[in-house]
Amino acid sequence: MAIDPVCKMRVEPEQAAAKAEYESQTYYFCSAACHKAFTADPHKYLGGHAGHGHGSPQPPGRKQR
Ligand SMILES: [Zn+2]
Repeated sequence: MAIDPVCKMRVEPEQAAAKAEYESQTYYFCSAACHKAFTADPHKYLGGHAGHGHGSPQPPGRKQR
């Protein structure tokens, strides 16, 4: 059992719509859309402590409540 790092859904590797290798880890995705999102910006979905503060600023008006 694997976890889709984008949407946190559980994915069976044999049934995954897509997979990607990143830093020697293989990640599985429920859909091509999740795969695309991950490959566009892997560190956004890995290691939640990194990737904020600088690098890719969020556009204003999309605050989470
Ligand atoms: Zn997904």
